[in-house]
Amino acid sequence: MIQVAVNGYGTIGKRVADAVREQPDMEVVGVAKTRPNFEAETALEKGFPLYAAIEERADQFAEAGLEIAGPVEDLVDEADVVVDATPSGIGAENKSMYEEYDTPALYQGGEDADLVDVSFNARSNFEDAVDADHVRVVSCNTTGLSRVLAPLREAYGVEKVRATLVRRGGDPGQTSRGPINDILPNPVTIPSHHGPDVETIFDDLDIDTLGMKVPATLMHMHSLNVTLAEEVDASEVRDLFVDESRLFLIPERMDIDGSGKLKEYAMDAGRPRGDIWENCIWEESISTVGNDLYLFQGIHQESDVVPENVDAIRAVLGAADAEESIETTNETMGVGL
Ligand code: NAD
Repeated sequence: MIQVAVNGYGTIGKRVADAVREQPDMEVVGVAKTRPNFEAETALEKGFPLYAAIEERADQFAEAGLEIAGPVEDLVDEADVVVDATPSGIGAENKSMYEEYDTPALYQGGEDADLVDVSFNARSNFEDAVDADHVRVVSCNTTGLSRVLAPLREAYGVEKVRATLVRRGGDPGQTSRGPINDILPNPVTIPSHHGPDVETIFDDLDIDTLGMKVPATLMHMHSLNVTLAEEVDASEVRDLFVDESRLFLIPERMDIDGSGKLKEYAMDAGRPRGDIWENCIWEESISTVGNDLYLFQGIHQESDVVPENVDAIRAVLGAADAEESIETTNETMGVGL
């Protein structure tokens, strides 16, 4: 069994811990937290051993009546691999600890690409991460774009990508984020940083991205234009996407007009936390004009990277190939709407 540590048990970390627990070949050896908040309590209720991420604050857990298994260093030492899901920039600070204990580490999209050996998306470049020590599972938006671009590149070739990312202001739990009543060009400079991030997955890709932030918490929305290397009928693209396990084509008959109904559907379907691990592409939006493909897709920022983290664990340990890992992850988590 692969012993997995999760350092940083917040939005991403707690979801990764739950997904890892579902895997037949993995075990959560423990999770590390900085403070005894509600997530620390639920971690213990779920039976995850809790480690103190910051030594000086370890007493706070005892004061809150929460049992600590030890300092984060013990957790990292014990684990075969650590998933660092701390806030942006903290992963970089933690890197030397992982090196000290010789434990391979996965970082999240908030870290810089040059921190790691490989930026990872299971569908696009699983093999690049095999046996790497430091791997970054790319951001929710980059994951969403990569999953669409990988099959398009393989089937038709891609000449140019233009994407406008309408970004949620914050996650539902991020009470300090905004805007509350505005529409922001964000970042205001063009192209946005998202395009170069996708190029960490496909280094020969020509992509320009623009970002906006809106008063929403549920999901991001991408408006995508891909210039293909050949003229393709929209129905062919639909058929191509249907075969992709992490792309959900929203059928017209479902009458899902936005991210609100998508989240409602996920909750009705019994998804944990109402998570949507798949890209949600409106089938009717898939259109072609000459070589140009257009579509809209919704991306659930809190969860699309979760199956990718599970696959990245197998990749760095050489525990399975891409196909085998993706299939196991999908089956155990229930990916595929
Ligand atoms: P979060 O704030 O919800 O969770 C981070 C957790 O790490 C918190 O519980 C925090 O208390 C804890 N923490 C802080 N300092 C720590 C330390 N030194 N050691 C251990 N734990 C520490 O953040 P998140 O949204 O889960 O983001 C984590 C990473 O995932 C970031 O790189 C982010 O860019 C990336 N990411 C976030 C999203 C998203 O939409 N939430 C999507 C994809 C990727």
